[in-house]
Amino acid sequence: KVRVRFAPSPTGGLHLGGVRTVLFNYLFAKQQGGDFIVRIEDTDQGRFVEGAEAYIFNTLKWCGLEPDESPLHGGPYAPYRQSERKENYRQYAEQLVQNGFAYYAFDTTAELEEMRNQFKTPENPSPQYNHSLRGKMKNSLTLTAQETETLLANGTPHVIRIKMPLNETVSFTDMIRGEVSFNTSQVDDKVLLKADGMPTYHLAVVVDDYLMKITHAFRGEEWLPSAPVHILLWDYLGWKNEMPQWAHLPLILKPDGNGKLSKRDGDRLGFPVFAMDWTDPKTNETTIGFKERGFLPEAFVNLLAMLGWNDGTDTEIFTISELIEKFSMERVHKGGAKFDYEKAKWFNHEWMKKAGASNLVPAVKQVFAQNGIEINDDALLTKVITLVSDRCTLLPDFVQQGSFFFVPPSTIDTDAVKPKWDEKKNLFFAELIRAWELSTLWEVHDLEKEFKELAAANQLKPGDLMLPFRIMLVGGKFGPGVFDIAALIGKSETIKRIQHTLS
Ligand code: GLU
Repeated sequence: KVRVRFAPSPTGGLHLGGVRTVLFNYLFAKQQGGDFIVRIEDTDQGRFVEGAEAYIFNTLKWCGLEPDESPLHGGPYAPYRQSERKENYRQYAEQLVQNGFAYYAFDTTAELEEMRNQFKTPENPSPQYNHSLRGKMKNSLTLTAQETETLLANGTPHVIRIKMPLNETVSFTDMIRGEVSFNTSQVDDKVLLKADGMPTYHLAVVVDDYLMKITHAFRGEEWLPSAPVHILLWDYLGWKNEMPQWAHLPLILKPDGNGKLSKRDGDRLGFPVFAMDWTDPKTNETTIGFKERGFLPEAFVNLLAMLGWNDGTDTEIFTISELIEKFSMERVHKGGAKFDYEKAKWFNHEWMKKAGASNLVPAVKQVFAQNGIEINDDALLTKVITLVSDRCTLLPDFVQQGSFFFVPPSTIDTDAVKPKWDEKKNLFFAELIRAWELSTLWEVHDLEKEFKELAAANQLKPGDLMLPFRIMLVGGKFGPGVFDIAALIGKSETIKRIQHTLS
């Protein structure tokens, strides 16, 4: 059975790229009738950030990408937090030492520092602990067995490092990139088990992918350089036949294609890169998310799917079930995908249309409430959404485009009509009020007819009266048809707004 995993380290808010990794895992699992697992990789206590794990699960919930197994959802391979699996790892690190694939290293921080200073050259400013230097350091390869035993018996702090072979080729098949090869001489002797007994990411990821029977490991391209370490570990631990199939997903690039998209690009260019608002517990600074910007989760998921994938046609709008049906890892591009915020907004606009007015009611009501406008009339709100949705891209746009249906405009742009205002117009509107007060009809076409007839009787062009009328009703030069507005806000409110401006 297909089993995939998303294995985040809880170090902060979830970036676009992280959610896309979730999505591709999810789509593949669901398509194959498999399971989607979320495992929290929190062995690096120094990078642990309070609240980050909860944030990850809230995001997955908002996106509708719920895992089958996780620390929250439970499952047959619990616990799903690496910090709770601590006792699993040491035995495998010891096994690697016993079989000659890893070694104990007793170097202190000062000694490591000294090594870096002693061996650094202009070409190699930060020398690695690797095949060329490990012979000069204090480890079980340079010490006698007796010395090593004594140090271990005395409880001397130590780490376990992988012994990277010299000049060997490690190859694997990536589902997106095809055959990928590395020369082992380029890779340093990564620490597998730290002095505090905690595994590093490299050991823990392999051990847990094995123990949790993961069949496919999909992750961001930034992990490609770590792949040779992981492939060798699968081999050295004797699990080669159970190794998952790999896919390294392309980077998400800055809008100009110049390097990886970062949170800073979002701040600078004014768009979100996180899924939801994230407040850094240390600085208390909040970074805006797609959710709070007013994206629908369906649109967010859809636009993420299109960052690096398409179905081979020009189709861009897909529901999650269509994505599950159409997705294939082989069609994911090797090259990075440029993030275009305007395009992202286009997806949202399309999804708002697709959702239809009545389905948008709860979300739109919520943004109104956030702006201090409580709406109780769902039928009216549905009509308003229908009238203004062409002008709305993000959910808060409905407040800007539609608040005047529920509350009188707070400012009236009288300057926009002043230059052409005269007594004739004043009289027209006074007369209009009198006519409408007596009127029993309040439908769009009746309103329009009466308005135009009255204009003709006064020898005025209706076109010259429409803008003032609009400004009376909405406060500015925007909004849908004026008679649509008047019809919806009703007779007494329409008259009140005209009177208010005239006085
Ligand atoms: N813990 C790693 C991360 O934070 C997981 C990488 C992987 O999937 O192997 O992204």
